[in-house]
Amino acid sequence: MRFVAEPVARLVEEFNKLPGIGPKSAQRLAYHLLRSSDEEAKALAEAILTLKEKIKLCSICFNNTDCDPCLICQDKERDHSKICVVEKPSDILPLERTGKYNGVYHVVHGTINPAHGIGPEKLKIKELLARLQNGSVTEVIVATNPNVESETMAMYLQKIITPLGIRVTRLARGLPFGAELEYADDLTLGQALENRRDF
Ligand SMILES: [Zn+2]
Repeated sequence: MRFVAEPVARLVEEFNKLPGIGPKSAQRLAYHLLRSSDEEAKALAEAILTLKEKIKLCSICFNNTDCDPCLICQDKERDHSKICVVEKPSDILPLERTGKYNGVYHVVHGTINPAHGIGPEKLKIKELLARLQNGSVTEVIVATNPNVESETMAMYLQKIITPLGIRVTRLARGLPFGAELEYADDLTLGQALENRRDF
């Protein structure tokens, strides 16, 4: 990159770190910004800064939010007796898009992975159990991604939650194994949610 001015090279390098952005796209984006107006470039920089400044985790469900509790947890129209457990905040969006779910969520932030030293204690699982203590929750829907690690976590959750007398369900098969909720199409995901089943 020695023929490229340092600030451009630096931006290319940063864009290149983003998912789905290869070196060529990174270059294209950097040069695009260089050509755009000062206002446009500033607006992008500011949006990125605000994102990191303003977005916190909801103290109830651990979703990303700029208010606490988050809008979903605050919503009285939603069915608070159902909690849908997801691995990461970005999994909530596709589930919401299906329009088939009116309960609330709990983001555990990861999945159990003993090979990488991630046990249940590293995830927001005790926080989930705390939410189940007051007896108002009747169903926990485990909406983890269909892969081996997530399967381990789903079984673990089922094992610790069922004894509390709470129904534990999971998304129906239909989502291809190895798929990510984030990228599932609305119809398939909506069906998987509607046809959810007991463990
Ligand atoms: Zn929340």
